Amino acid sequence: MTMRYQSRITVLLLSVALLIPLAQIAPREGHGEEPARITVLYDNIQYDPHCATAWGYAALIEHGEHVYLFDTGGDGSTLLSNMRALGVDPERIEAVILSHAHGDHTGGLIDLLGVGIDPPVYLLPSFPPELKSDIARLTEVIEVTAGQSVGAGVYVTGEVQGAVPEQAVIVATDSGLVVLTGCAHPGVVALVARAKDLRGEPVHLVMGGFHLRNASSEQLQSIISELHSLGVAKVAPSHCTGEAAIAAFRTGYGAGFVESGAGKVVLLSGAS
Ligand SMILES: [Zn+2]
Ligand SMILES: [Zn+2]
Repeated sequence: MTMRYQSRITVLLLSVALLIPLAQIAPREGHGEEPARITVLYDNIQYDPHCATAWGYAALIEHGEHVYLFDTGGDGSTLLSNMRALGVDPERIEAVILSHAHGDHTGGLIDLLGVGIDPPVYLLPSFPPELKSDIARLTEVIEVTAGQSVGAGVYVTGEVQGAVPEQAVIVATDSGLVVLTGCAHPGVVALVARAKDLRGEPVHLVMGGFHLRNASSEQLQSIISELHSLGVAKVAPSHCTGEAAIAAFRTGYGAGFVESGAGKVVLLSGAS
């Protein structure tokens, strides 16, 4: 072995010896959650002109390498064409979570499964038996009876009672929790309160349908102040929230208001 070759090996060993402790002490950002990205795939409000709109809601949740679908919109063709327009490969979906049984949130599911994927579907015990058995013929059905984890950094609240029983999805990020609501029939405040109780962390963003089309301006002001009291930093209302309610949130939340609709992408980096 030549001297030159020996010194090369020494340099190599030294670099390895130096690299290991460096990797061990490298600071982790925040709580070390993976970056997350939420894309609204289906909405009656348009955000990205490349997306079609129709009554309903669906959002893709990407948490690190993991991909989940929250609700499926009202029909499969709009859902699938928006997925194509946004470059979303259905094969990557590891699980589907349904907020509640209304057709504008469940209507795209059977067509989606028809592309040849079979992710488990998380739904509530109160869903109609026919809908459960239609889904069970194609893939695994998981009935959510209490708050639980769905995968890396993603949780469901379990059933919250209301005019229509509903569950929300919670995405844990280094910026705080993101709470996704379908229609928020039990009330957006009740869903956020449940999410906060379950995870005990600050709520960074609430997005989805808030179902406030018939709310008076006094009711809207009180909901906005309750969300502020719960520590909700940002809101991205769309779908069934209602125009007047969206305008009230825009004013009431100021810089914390996030314009949303079909094609909206919310990036949540590892750092706050
Ligand atoms: Zn809805
Ligand atoms: Zn609904």
